[in-house]
Amino acid sequence: MLDTVSISAPEKRGILDCLGHVLAEDIYAGEHIPPFDNSAMDGFAVVAEDVLGASEETPVSLAVVESIAAGYAPAKRIERGQAARIMTGAMMPAGADAVVMQEVTQFDGEQVRLAEAVEKAENVRFTGESVRSGDLVMGSGKLLRPQECSMLASLNRSEVKVHRRPRVAVVSTGDELTPLGNALEPGKIRDSNRYGICAQLREAGCIPIDMGIARDDEEETERIFRDGLNRADALITSGGVSVGEHDVVKSVLSKLGEINFWRVAMKPGKPQAYGIADGKPIFGLPGNPVSSLVVFELFVRPALLKMAGHSNPFRPTFRAVLDEDIVNKDKRTNYMRSIIARREGRYCAKTTGPQGSGILYSLVLANGFIVIPPGVSLKSGDEVEAQFLGDGVG
Ligand code: AMP
Ligand code: MG
Repeated sequence: MLDTVSISAPEKRGILDCLGHVLAEDIYAGEHIPPFDNSAMDGFAVVAEDVLGASEETPVSLAVVESIAAGYAPAKRIERGQAARIMTGAMMPAGADAVVMQEVTQFDGEQVRLAEAVEKAENVRFTGESVRSGDLVMGSGKLLRPQECSMLASLNRSEVKVHRRPRVAVVSTGDELTPLGNALEPGKIRDSNRYGICAQLREAGCIPIDMGIARDDEEETERIFRDGLNRADALITSGGVSVGEHDVVKSVLSKLGEINFWRVAMKPGKPQAYGIADGKPIFGLPGNPVSSLVVFELFVRPALLKMAGHSNPFRPTFRAVLDEDIVNKDKRTNYMRSIIARREGRYCAKTTGPQGSGILYSLVLANGFIVIPPGVSLKSGDEVEAQFLGDGVG
């Protein structure tokens, strides 16, 4: 799937509006940061040699010639025997080469008494020590987190080129699905998948386009799928990809493009469809609510993140210690919904109870998965592979 999707085109965005986007250009520094030598402390700018032997027992006194606030240039040069009162971030005066912090000084308005020595360069932040003009600061492909937004501002960049967020059309299928607000007739259920998928899209930084519900009718399904594809960069369908008599999604998708129907040896989430139509990916998610959310998380999300320009679309995995015995008699890998918590320096996991692929509540209780390979018996205390859902809070 990752090999078949392409990275979306770049667009310009303001830096207040680019969080979570991926850079589509290299960012070079056009100026030094910081732009001038400045004080890292509130204190006194001095010539370090003057203060060489200063201590509580042998303090040194210097004449204070001015006070320099952040945002203003110093007026005077510091000569031997002199000092300037200086604030954090204020420009270092010529002649001074260190700052003594205020906490070890006594100032009477004219003279300052210094009770601690400093070395040359101490408490001074030098021009370009963070970034030098001409440096490559962030490369194309970098995810823009708050610190990157802050860095762009300090480089005087109000706009940057980023990859467009993928727009993704979402369609639920099934005669049993009832829109929210309508009374449930016999045999009907609520359409939950569409809302879950739209939320997962938002969380992944994509733009969902809600295409509503398609009945189990070929013509209606084809019309809505085509409409969705025309309006978006990708299409997600829910349900109808299994072997049931009314699973019309399979024949409709086959008409739209190169679609493969898969059975993946995983639980939940066995039946899936994936393919390309008009150069756009189509993800056919299973109808069972847990399967839908899990397949999105493990398959669809990485593909969409790649489209959005991310260089690493996978969530990190880690080892967790089981708090219960688990037997997987199945031939499929089991992604068990779990509560994962840190205890005595290790991650520990216990499952959220009944794990049927229709039991959405198993995901509501969970903050992660544990991965149980086929045919294994594990005991409490054994280690398994684990992964958080989102940032593991929930
Ligand atoms: P299907 O793959 O269409 O046979 O659906 C499998 C199961 O998931 C059935 O129990 C459906 O009723 C259920 N299902 C399908 N679509 C949705 C949906 N959008 N929301 C909640 N449950 C669904
Ligand atoms: Mg169905």
